[in-house]
Amino acid sequence: MELDGIILKRGKEKAILRRHPWIFSGAVHQMPACTEGDTLPVLDANGSLLGHAHIQDGGSILAKMVSFGKIIPDKSFWTQQIKRALSLRQSLGLFESATNNIFRLIHGEGDGFPGLVVDYYNGVIVFQSYSWGMHLLKPLLAEIFSEVMPMPLKAIYDKSSKTMPAHFEEENQYLLQPRSESIEHIAYENGHPFNIDWINGQKTGFFIDQRDNRQLLGAYAKDKKILNTFCYSGGFSIYALNNGAKEVHSLDSSQGAIDLTDANVALGQHQIRHKSIVADAMDYIKNNTEKYDIIILDPPAFAKHLSAKNRATKAYQRLNQMALKHIKPGGMLFTFSCSQVIDYTLFRNTITAAAIEAGRDTQIINRLFQPADHPVSIFHPEGEYLKGLALKVD
Ligand code: SAH
Repeated sequence: MELDGIILKRGKEKAILRRHPWIFSGAVHQMPACTEGDTLPVLDANGSLLGHAHIQDGGSILAKMVSFGKIIPDKSFWTQQIKRALSLRQSLGLFESATNNIFRLIHGEGDGFPGLVVDYYNGVIVFQSYSWGMHLLKPLLAEIFSEVMPMPLKAIYDKSSKTMPAHFEEENQYLLQPRSESIEHIAYENGHPFNIDWINGQKTGFFIDQRDNRQLLGAYAKDKKILNTFCYSGGFSIYALNNGAKEVHSLDSSQGAIDLTDANVALGQHQIRHKSIVADAMDYIKNNTEKYDIIILDPPAFAKHLSAKNRATKAYQRLNQMALKHIKPGGMLFTFSCSQVIDYTLFRNTITAAAIEAGRDTQIINRLFQPADHPVSIFHPEGEYLKGLALKVD
């Protein structure tokens, strides 16, 4: 039977057979009439079915594979996909944990859901979609989550108005209404309470990807004076304060982020040892003469595309070079990049250049990455984005 689908050029099926999910325009021989968000069969040059893909918004990636082989991506397929993702989190001990009820349930391509992130905050699920294909699936996925989650759900919220392609105007909304107006916003990460604002906060409300790295920072924090730059809701600051830091300064350019930090600091009644600063991190570090035992640098992605890689590398170097000068001898720098196009080796080399320029003898103590609930498909290395270093600075 002739299928009306995307027909690839001869040889271009190889990446798909290796389960790389992206179909670039250069790989396509023939496209049927379709619109963004459609789910279409993908065929090789001989007409053999390779799987099904969501049509994208006309950039260089024409479509993203959602299923491979003959499987039809229907409700039963998506149920299996969700169960697979849940089973991974279960095996990581996240569901039974008495101290942690913040984790990522779906990490895009890494879990077989290109264009979708799903996070969990103490009974509340937050969806964030990046493609129209995933957007259209959300009611079905919400229904499946309600059926298969091993714990009762308080609400499902869709927070995609800022992440969808610009030509779609989407309102954020509850897909599963909370039963009461005063739904609990407090959730726990490694035993630390956080106020999660999934309505007005950044991303889905919290940067879950730093969980393991915050735990490590906590282990070094006792009696230390710490500067947490790009702090957002104060994740690293709270771990530092709860682990006996002497003094913590949290800095962010967003007043909204600092308000969230202050609320989280107040949850632990740590105000006396804490100071909030609304400022540009670069300006602050350049103009301030204070010295710290530990500085944390966790900026937003400086390079969102390959074209920005060189400029971003220079910006990371400048920022780190400047921060290194403010670290007391024997102190530490926790430094991160979440730019996907800057890989670990380039990041490490950039920090080496910063240490040379700053004239500081520096040791790598810990190499840091995204945690296990942010898996990466081995066939889609683009999913590896967070890298960092914990450095001792003499
Ligand atoms: N470390 C945080 C996540 C950081 S996200 C955590 O653990 O939760 C990046 C943060 O950098 C955002 O809160 C954003 O408001 C802030 N930011 C962006 N540009 C900035 C700048 N130039 N100076 C200071 N903060 C900035």
